[in-house]
Amino acid sequence: MVERQLRRRGIRDARVLDAMSRVPREVFVPAERRKQAYDDDALPLGYGQTISQPYVVAAMCELLGLTGDERVLEVGTGSGYAAAVLDELAAHVVTVELIPELAAAARSALDETGHGDVEVRTGDGSLGDAGEPPFDAILVSAAAPELPLQLLDRLTDAGRMVCPVGPQSGQRLVVVERRGNETTTTAGLRCRFVPLRGAAGYPE
Ligand code: SAH
Repeated sequence: MVERQLRRRGIRDARVLDAMSRVPREVFVPAERRKQAYDDDALPLGYGQTISQPYVVAAMCELLGLTGDERVLEVGTGSGYAAAVLDELAAHVVTVELIPELAAAARSALDETGHGDVEVRTGDGSLGDAGEPPFDAILVSAAAPELPLQLLDRLTDAGRMVCPVGPQSGQRLVVVERRGNETTTTAGLRCRFVPLRGAAGYPE
């Protein structure tokens, strides 16, 4: 997976490649999908949600540029897989999931894989009121109609946020870098995530 899906497609950050090789994705996919755990694809988790494609997780983590000291917030725990990878890359991870059953399954997968320090919260994470701000990095693991500005307020002065932004039919991974009150926004990789719900999600 690391060689074919990540390195060959241009993931260069050695810490990200290492983290991806250490986290056993099969523990995070539903039992009946274990054989597909290393497929080059997103996989269904139930409840209409998916575990992201490994390449997309690696690309998002690379864009966050983590060095190991950061406090990170993830919105959209899903399986807990991306949270486990973030835990390998940063000092502390708080992850928020709207669906209690998924949060509970993620909690046990994270414990099983040695990522017991990850804080899993249940609730609407789209406003960033989970965990103790500020965060050095925020990863939004669900598609947002527009950049969730409330989350930007939870970033440290030199913080970074990565979020898929665009219509439900397809988004781009947007990277926001904060320097004090200035922000720089760059839109990159095309992607397709399940929708963010809650206060900063799509109108019903
Ligand atoms: N990072 C995950 C993939 C997440 S899929 C993984 O590695 O498996 C997106 C998740 O975001 C879904 O589980 C969905 O329930 C959750 N979600 C959607 N809107 C949310 C919100 N406002 N707050 C918290 N979680 C949300």
